[in-house]
Amino acid sequence: MRSWIGISVGIELILSRDVFLWTQRTDDCFGLTSATKTVQSSRGEPVQDQITRCHHTHNTMLGCSLRGGCSPLVFLWALLLLPPLVSPHSLNEQHGSRSHSVKDKPKLLLVSFDGFRWDYIDRVPTPNFRLLMDEGVTVEQVENIYITKTFPNHYTLVTGLYAETHGIVANEMYDPTLNRSFSIETESIYDPRWWEEAVPLWVTIQKSGGRSGAAMWPGSDVKIHGMFPSQFLPYNSSVSFETRVGRIIDWFSAPKEDAVDFGVLYWEEPDESGHLLGPQSSLMDAVIAGIDEKLGFLINELKKAGLFEKVNLIVTSDHGMTQLFADNIIELDEYVSRDLYTLVDRSPVVGILPKEGKLSEVYDKLVDANPNMMVYKKEEIPTRFHYQHSVRIMPIVLEAKEGWTIMQNRSGPFMLGNHGYDNTLRSMQPVFVARGPAFRQDYVKTTMRSVDLYPLMCHILSIRPLPNNGSLANVQDLLSPDSAPPAPSAPPRVDEYSYAPVVGSFLSVVMVLGFLVVYVREVTLKQLPSLKHRRREMSQPLLQEDLHL
Ligand SMILES: [Zn+2]
Repeated sequence: MRSWIGISVGIELILSRDVFLWTQRTDDCFGLTSATKTVQSSRGEPVQDQITRCHHTHNTMLGCSLRGGCSPLVFLWALLLLPPLVSPHSLNEQHGSRSHSVKDKPKLLLVSFDGFRWDYIDRVPTPNFRLLMDEGVTVEQVENIYITKTFPNHYTLVTGLYAETHGIVANEMYDPTLNRSFSIETESIYDPRWWEEAVPLWVTIQKSGGRSGAAMWPGSDVKIHGMFPSQFLPYNSSVSFETRVGRIIDWFSAPKEDAVDFGVLYWEEPDESGHLLGPQSSLMDAVIAGIDEKLGFLINELKKAGLFEKVNLIVTSDHGMTQLFADNIIELDEYVSRDLYTLVDRSPVVGILPKEGKLSEVYDKLVDANPNMMVYKKEEIPTRFHYQHSVRIMPIVLEAKEGWTIMQNRSGPFMLGNHGYDNTLRSMQPVFVARGPAFRQDYVKTTMRSVDLYPLMCHILSIRPLPNNGSLANVQDLLSPDSAPPAPSAPPRVDEYSYAPVVGSFLSVVMVLGFLVVYVREVTLKQLPSLKHRRREMSQPLLQEDLHL
């Protein structure tokens, strides 16, 4: 786009005072129109005149003053310019800026503090959460997805899908089709095949012509469907929160063509402390206060960069945390031999892969083994969990009751806090607050599902959502009626032509050709000396006369 403006301005300087280039949005101009308008001539003087202007899109118009007249050369230049101006590439740039003008382009930052339970904000003073709540929205009860583990839930937040559909069904998985294992503690997470049953929001945005930035979000440093986020930090737990925030601020503050539209920011706490200390520990108070301070740091950095009033900020988490007790341990070795199965995922929801032909035997040994452990054959898993239809869900699934731990024996590591349990347990549910131009102020909503966040974010970003398990209607009341974000629509695809620019271009070409025919005819009729003179006058004197030079 910029290059065409440059070319046009150059032509303007070379050719004539009567050619002007004029840039404005299409809202008030479309196609071929006539109007009286004050514009700036190439010499910097205002020219008020009846003008005919043509433009193929909303942004650039090339025109001529009728009173002053235009040289045919100018129109030839225009003809030469028009075809490139309607190339798919330039169309997309311009269509994109039509959908969201640079000024109004919606921005969104999604922040996850891992394991931040919904009620932590009431446990100690959390003035920065309060600020967002007062100036934005709060959802009291967010039903996240089963299993309430980190990777499944983070992928749900950016896809709107249950785990059985997006494919990240656990932190530890086995895929019999791929014959591969996945563990968040190994390099296996970088194999795109684990992730490509869904498309994360950053990929959709980028395929729509937008940009995204990811600071350590689970899966964001994996090349999914051939694409990384436009900007991202490879996962490294030793990178400080402040450094991550700094990069996010840089990405949102970049020049407009480089600035991200959507950012995701992940921080490991208070999950790690919750596991180590247990959520009931008084030591967690300081951890929670520390998270509030980190949120305050983020808010201040957004303010310093002039982004706080522009960026829609969503602060949530993947799950909560519950207290465990050393006496509440279920030891599988007491009930079934390890020779009969492979343990795929760990407590509190354990995937059991029986050895060939041993499914019934294993199931029978476990089904009534312990009253604090539910035992499901895959097809028996309650429908409400949306946790059946994936080859990565094992033939037998064990689920501990809240506060209980399933282990093979007590020699394994034991934690004082854990998550992963039934997603309807309050202890498993995350915090949710949001603030920004798209959101209502001081509004409290009772319930939502985490799968509803994806269509909400797509709406705010004016991106057409891919098929998902959420519903915008469920959460639309969170949105400010004043903000009126553009209705979700598919932003321009790279290989798509837009109807409007093509029509505008066609009319432009017709107008230019028509003018040339009339012009040449008039000149021809006026000038009837010798052939020799006519040739000269057609090329030189007539031009000068017409331009009043
Ligand atoms: Zn987590």
